[in-house]
Amino acid sequence: MKFENTLAFAQELDSKDELAGFRNQFHLLKHEGHNLIYLCGNSLGLQPISVEAAIAQELKDWAELGVEGHFAGKNPWMYYHHFLTEKAAKVVGAKPKEVVVMNNLTANLHLMMVSFYRPTKQRYKILMEGSAFPSDQYAMETQARFHGYDPQDAIIELTPRAGEYTLRTEDIVAKINEHQHELAIVMMGGVNYYTGQAFDMKTIASAAHQVGATVGFDCAHAAGNLKLQLHDWDIDFAVWCSYKYLNSGPGGTSGVFVHEKHGNNPDLIRFAGWWGHDEKERFLMKKGFIPMEGAAGWQLSNAQIFPMAIHNASLMLFEEAGMDRLRSKSVMLTGYLEFILNQFSNHLTIITPSDPQQRGCQLSVVVKQDGKKLFDYLVAHHILPDWREPDVIRMSPVPMYNSFEDVYKIGQALSTYFTT
Ligand SMILES: *Cc1c(COP(=O)(O)O)cnc(C)c1O
Repeated sequence: MKFENTLAFAQELDSKDELAGFRNQFHLLKHEGHNLIYLCGNSLGLQPISVEAAIAQELKDWAELGVEGHFAGKNPWMYYHHFLTEKAAKVVGAKPKEVVVMNNLTANLHLMMVSFYRPTKQRYKILMEGSAFPSDQYAMETQARFHGYDPQDAIIELTPRAGEYTLRTEDIVAKINEHQHELAIVMMGGVNYYTGQAFDMKTIASAAHQVGATVGFDCAHAAGNLKLQLHDWDIDFAVWCSYKYLNSGPGGTSGVFVHEKHGNNPDLIRFAGWWGHDEKERFLMKKGFIPMEGAAGWQLSNAQIFPMAIHNASLMLFEEAGMDRLRSKSVMLTGYLEFILNQFSNHLTIITPSDPQQRGCQLSVVVKQDGKKLFDYLVAHHILPDWREPDVIRMSPVPMYNSFEDVYKIGQALSTYFTT
């Protein structure tokens, strides 16, 4: 599509946008009396209006039913995670049995590592992105230590070629092959939080399996952003949070994917709790853990009703919009932002790949001079991207609630900034 840097063009795209109405289902923000252009959906998605009623329902059942809410509530708490499973599975391209919503992201990453990082004397190394999100770095470091390895030795980091910002798939595959005899697991982000690069999960999974390693992805920045096909891509496990693109609130709950080829293996080592135990016997309080089938067999604790109520309300919007439509709009919207930013290429460098297959919503921009000053200027002009040290501004127009006009206005603000 040939983009134009005019308000009329942006408004024309908005008028043709089938998803434009979803914007009204969110609490859009104000800043100093102006409408705020929110570009931080990659960090904390906006609040769906429907969330309040969803929470109110559970508060009401608790107030009126007490413990009976587990069975007599409108949405019985005993089965609460079931209400989310199918919708969450659709978002990540999985079978319902392969998905469960529980806990928080980093906790789930550790739980998955317990099952899928089973190092041996020969095969104990972990391959990950260099400069991965810190929580993932700490998780891998302490997993290595937990199994008695020196993280310096056990963790192999992928770094871009000199002068490049992002990783090449061929280099990731080459690294996997280089370490084929010692690699236990490949654990990467689905989309890198800093550069916005989306990895070729299918190719990476296939390369890892060919050398006998397992493969897991942290989809914190991929879930609700890309059209994932975790089942078909043959990923062993994945984890994600619900508060970024999935709009489910600060500290919101997390999702877990366990491929069905593992999910039905009761002998797979895991750390268990009563909620992962066979549902039919859960309240018999018997000795001897018998896991539920599928990802549900990794649950520990009884469901966190309030974060899950929020997540459920938000997932209903994803159900309605559909990942296909969201992704199509996203490709256009981010393509438009790229076009607008490229008008200022004397001042800005986009480090996110320009190939839409290799990115989601987010564009990460290096400002050639005094990036923090530009960031502050945008904020003062009612545009909220996010700032990442040392010199990156991340902007994520999300298809659920951002518009083409939003993107056009970013260009107007940049134009004033750079010409005055
Ligand atoms: C956002 C994010 C996290 C945050 O972890 P929590 O456990 O939810 O605090 C971890 N890893 C990645 C890759 C992230 O993007």
